[in-house]
Amino acid sequence: MKEIIKEEEAVAEGGLNFIEQEIKADLEAGKNGGRLNTRFPPEPNGYLHIGHAKAFIMDFGSAEKFGGTCNLRFDDTNPQKEDTEYVEAIKEDIHWLGYDWEDRLYYASDYFPQLYDLAVRLIKEGKAYVDEQTSEQIAAQKGTPTTPGTNSPYRDRPVEENLSLFEKMNAGEFDEGAMVLRAKIDMASDNMHFRDPIMYRIIKTPHWRTGDKWKVYPMYDFAHGQSDYFEGVTHSICTLEFVPHRPLYEYFVKELADDSYCPRQIEFNRLNLTYTVMSKRKLLQLVKEGLVSGWDDPRMPTLRGLRRRGYTPSSIKDFVKRIGYTKYEALNHIELLEHSVREDLNKTATRVSVIQNPVKLVLTNYPEDKTEYMAMDNNPENPAEGTHEMPFSRELWIEREDFMENPPKKFFRLSPDKEVRLKGAYIIKCTGIKKNDEGEIEEIYATYDPDTRSGLPGSDRKVKGTLHWVSVPTATTAEIRDYDRLFTVENPSAEEGDFRDLLNPDSLKIRSNAKIEPWLAERIKAGDNYQFQRLGYYVVDKDSTPGHPVFNKTIGLKDSWAKEMKK
Ligand code: ATP
Ligand code: MG
Repeated sequence: MKEIIKEEEAVAEGGLNFIEQEIKADLEAGKNGGRLNTRFPPEPNGYLHIGHAKAFIMDFGSAEKFGGTCNLRFDDTNPQKEDTEYVEAIKEDIHWLGYDWEDRLYYASDYFPQLYDLAVRLIKEGKAYVDEQTSEQIAAQKGTPTTPGTNSPYRDRPVEENLSLFEKMNAGEFDEGAMVLRAKIDMASDNMHFRDPIMYRIIKTPHWRTGDKWKVYPMYDFAHGQSDYFEGVTHSICTLEFVPHRPLYEYFVKELADDSYCPRQIEFNRLNLTYTVMSKRKLLQLVKEGLVSGWDDPRMPTLRGLRRRGYTPSSIKDFVKRIGYTKYEALNHIELLEHSVREDLNKTATRVSVIQNPVKLVLTNYPEDKTEYMAMDNNPENPAEGTHEMPFSRELWIEREDFMENPPKKFFRLSPDKEVRLKGAYIIKCTGIKKNDEGEIEEIYATYDPDTRSGLPGSDRKVKGTLHWVSVPTATTAEIRDYDRLFTVENPSAEEGDFRDLLNPDSLKIRSNAKIEPWLAERIKAGDNYQFQRLGYYVVDKDSTPGHPVFNKTIGLKDSWAKEMKK
């Protein structure tokens, strides 16, 4: 399953992938009156993840590309698992990626009356029957792909009896599981889905939209194609696991459609990501058991999680474009997603100075009451964004890791008697240190060379290392949440045993004593992306309060994907 899909493989001639080529051919052939209407059909039983984004980028994107329309349809056919909380969140997340269904918001539950009528018609035509066997008995009669199934003893009951039982099922006269409505197709079919599939089951939980009006609910296979048909959908794009369902989709749709209009199903490979689980059931479990902080935990592959982590809509779209749509399953490398994020943020994120693990540096020859203002580039990738000022003073914070008392040969940061440049400021030389009783360095002493101020004549003297810094008197203390992969193995879904045992115990490290420059402290707004000089990309978290900024680490600066591709 592990393979890297390169863009060239996934995108064929004319920049169209295989689905877009099918759509184009249908439009050119004048099918469905030359209309294109797609749909995105989420079940409101969880939050959307990046796999869903791959699906709806295709649904909305192809409609956009060919001048068609895309519906949002909630597939709300199971009242036991669904919730309005999810409906609202799903709408928001689609909007966040920049797509809109305009006035085409639908619910599968809108079609319960038509679906019921169709079921009654099929019963009358001898194409459906009520089976009173238990689900175990029905399963036992299914047969195997190589041996035919066995007919139910209820298969040939009279139409009148079927009709009356189905009505009573819906009136609530029977318990859940007491009986089901099945299509009478072929218990010996090569396609297991044709072996008298279940059309309706009894559920007594009230539905969040239709209340207790219905006691029977249609199965996916009986609801989906018909809902497409009722809505005028022309291309029903879904994932590969529905390939074996396609003949049944066509079988039921044929009961309604004619030559002038008939929806068709096209399947593509799902998105699977390394070090990630994408099953809604597992994601729900992580949330319910408090193994993450919620659906929007920055380690989750949900759109909420990625957003809170600082991933941007354009980086997610760029990633989906790179992996493409194919007809074979693959496991995509999360490093490629990170590459897209890094590329986008490199272009757009404002550069600021933050010290995540501070130690104090004292410039002994710098006047105590002096402050200079250094101009710092907002984004060297885009000079039009200009600069902002950062105060410079006698006491500065630098990273503890940027100093070594006994450095190895190629250590170009600060050490006794060595020189470095302070970014955008002066060259300094280390003259000594002070340790506390535990032997930990408390202060580092240095002298600065006044003739080396960046940007001024004489500043061209070169030294090997450049450090970032933040002035002590004007710094604000902040919290940084540093994330690592949520799982320790590349493909958690392929492992035996409990997936929760594969969680990375060190996926969150909190640094509570980071020091940020005043310009940043003045503009803390949740969701804003920054590059912290030399450290990586960070985003302001919604947990920030006035005076206490909180940042999530989005991604480091080093691109492991670019390295991988060079190998
Ligand atoms: P389940 O049906 O088990 O609750 P689901 O992930 O299939 O979970 P749906 O709400 O039915 O959830 O999905 C809506 C659409 O998103 C479907 O068309 C489905 O094919 C697509 N989809 C879901 N997961 C992925 C994925 N990992 N990659 C691409 N498309 C996906
Ligand atoms: Mg589904």
